[in-house]
Amino acid sequence: MTSDSAQTGSGGSDAVASRLALAIHEHRIQPGAKLSEDEVGEIFGVSRTLVRAALQQLAHDRLVTLKRNRGAFVAQPSVREAREVFEARALLEPRTARSAAERATGADITRLQRHIDEEHAALADGDPGRALRLSGQFHIEIAAIADQETLREFITQLVARSSLIIALYWQRRTALCESHAHHALLKALEDGDGSRAEEMMKGHLLDLISSLDLRNPAPPARSLREALARA
Ligand SMILES: [Zn+2]
Repeated sequence: MTSDSAQTGSGGSDAVASRLALAIHEHRIQPGAKLSEDEVGEIFGVSRTLVRAALQQLAHDRLVTLKRNRGAFVAQPSVREAREVFEARALLEPRTARSAAERATGADITRLQRHIDEEHAALADGDPGRALRLSGQFHIEIAAIADQETLREFITQLVARSSLIIALYWQRRTALCESHAHHALLKALEDGDGSRAEEMMKGHLLDLISSLDLRNPAPPARSLREALARA
C-alpha cells in the first residue's frame, strides 16, 4: 500500500501496513475486525506509534476505518460502496486491458502466465486467500503493462477494496477470477488484440460482480492473533 507520509520509514509503519494489508487481502482478518494498537504492536513487536501510523495509512487506502474513541477496524464496505468499486473497475480496466494488449512484450506475457501458475499452485495448496490476492495482482500487472501510472494507482486501491468486498459478499467462491477468464485475457494480450482484451475484461468484471451476493454480509471469524500469526 502506498502513502505520502514516509516519515516513519520503509522498515517501520510501511512494513506494518503491508503485513496488515496482506492479511486483509488474504482474508485472514475479516471485515469489521477490531485492530487494537496494543495487540497489533505486541504481535509484530513494534511500538504503538508505528502501529498508529500504519493504521492511518490503511485508512487512507480505505482498508481500515478509524472510529473516534473506539479505535481502528478493518473496513466493511457497504453494498453501495461495493457496487461503486466494481463499477469504477468496469470503467477503468477494459481500457487498460486494451492498452496493455497494444504494448505487451513477450516478457510481460511470461510474467502473467507465471502469475496464473502461482494462483493455481495456491489453490492446489488449499490457500484460497493467497489465490485471491494473486488474482487481484494479475489485474494490477495488466494496468502496469498498460504503462499508465495514475490508472495503475487507482486500480491498485480498487483491487484492495475489492478484496474486502469479496470477503463480505462472496457467494460462489470458485466463480471469482476464474482462471479461464484470466487465460482468455492473457491470450488476447498475447495476440495483441486490444478490442478483444477490452471485451474480455469487461465481461470478466461483470461476471465478478454477479458472483457477489450484495445483500447478506458473511459473518466474521478468527481472532486477530490467529489471523496475523503468519503475516
Ligand atoms: Zn480477474
